[in-house]
Amino acid sequence: MALPQAGAPAPAAPVTRFAPSPTGELHLGNARTALFNWLLARGRGGRFLLRIEDTDAGRSRTEYATQILDDLRWLGLDWDGDIVVQSARGPAYAEALARLEADGRAYPCYCTPVEIEVSRRSQLAAGRPPRYAGTCRHLDAHQRAARLAEGRQPTLRFRVPDAGRIAFTDLVHGEQVFDCADIGDFVLRRADHSAAFFFSNILDDADSGVTVVLRGEDHLSNTPRQLLIAEALGLRAPAYGHLSLITGPDGAPLSKRLGAKTLRELRETGFLPVALVNHLYRLGHSGEAEGLQHLDALARAFDTTRLVRSPARFDPAQLESWQKAAVQALTPEAALEWLRPALPAGLAPAAAQGFVDVIRHNLALPAELAPWSAVVFGELPPPAAAEQALLAEAGPEFFAAAAAALRDRAAGLAGGDPAPWKAATAAIAAATGRKGPALFKPLRVALTGQLQGPELAPLIALMTPARAIARLERLSSRAP
Ligand code: GLU
Ligand code: ZN
Repeated sequence: MALPQAGAPAPAAPVTRFAPSPTGELHLGNARTALFNWLLARGRGGRFLLRIEDTDAGRSRTEYATQILDDLRWLGLDWDGDIVVQSARGPAYAEALARLEADGRAYPCYCTPVEIEVSRRSQLAAGRPPRYAGTCRHLDAHQRAARLAEGRQPTLRFRVPDAGRIAFTDLVHGEQVFDCADIGDFVLRRADHSAAFFFSNILDDADSGVTVVLRGEDHLSNTPRQLLIAEALGLRAPAYGHLSLITGPDGAPLSKRLGAKTLRELRETGFLPVALVNHLYRLGHSGEAEGLQHLDALARAFDTTRLVRSPARFDPAQLESWQKAAVQALTPEAALEWLRPALPAGLAPAAAQGFVDVIRHNLALPAELAPWSAVVFGELPPPAAAEQALLAEAGPEFFAAAAAALRDRAAGLAGGDPAPWKAATAAIAAATGRKGPALFKPLRVALTGQLQGPELAPLIALMTPARAIARLERLSSRAP
């Protein structure tokens, strides 16, 4: 069954790529682009390539490139072959640009940025969409030499055909048609001799044999220009699929709150890669993959016909629920590693593992461990009003009896085994005549400070009997 908003199938054994510009760190949007290209390649026996688009020397930083590779590895997205770095591709670009110029498909433009801006404004003022006015389109050798002599540094512009249309099938958005007359002559090489994005991007895709490009919707209007370049150079262009925008839960652009966080920040907060991957997979891809899935399963299920056109809404609550599922799925050893940075210093390995085993199911993020560390190894904060009321209702006699029952068994309670604590609770029940919630609620609040939490016996078994007894004794004398 074809979904109403779905796209077209991608070719078999696709060669895809991720082509980040190292001008900042990865956030959820570009991580999703990387993931989808990876899934498409891996799910269909293709190849996934990586290219660093660092032709903008002013904004590109090696640290960002390094961070991007780290982030991809952390997500589990491996790439095939060598990484292409655009700053090392100067000779290939120069050769292709010379060819375009020799063929009359490109020409030097001597307009200064100020002149371009003036022209842009006057077109806007006249109510026309601004595009390059064609000033340098037909300069002869003499005119060119004169402009060079003025010290003008030329850019190289692509000569867009005066008439005709460029049509292509977008894997997400379907048939696209652009009129050449609407596309101004655009820059291929900047005045500083660096290659412009439109040009280096398509040349590299073609040279690397890329067959499918999934990328952000913001690039859709660039595609006709890139197809023109490919055609002029006799290159085979990839198929394109432009992924819908990611918005916040309200449909507005992603806010700083969570969605605009970088991958590094999410990782440092303790998000697990499998949680992110599962969440990203469902942002703009409608599908049947139920529950937490590993990358290979997601790759098998990924299908370009399931990419949706409407904006994908990022909901922090969804991410958190994937994170909880990912935490549940951790092995005990992996859970210990995940929580290690948040554990109190100096815990013996067995105590640390025991603590993590009991607490992990109540956590989504390591920062939530601190209150439980206080419960087991530290001091309880003063109880909130509802908890306070519960303690008052149980009364000092109850806590006195409970403390006495624990004191009688203190020797047997040390050691971390929950069984003697269960026996002690039975003794408290017998001594106080309370059972069920009337017994467990005040006990839980007295010992842990809160009504919610993991099963009580294994939790209190983690504390020393002295700490538990002291908490009960404190409540067994009337409050001052
Ligand atoms: N460097 C471009 C970007 O990060 C790549 C666009 C593309 O995937 O073609 O937006
Ligand atoms: Zn010009």
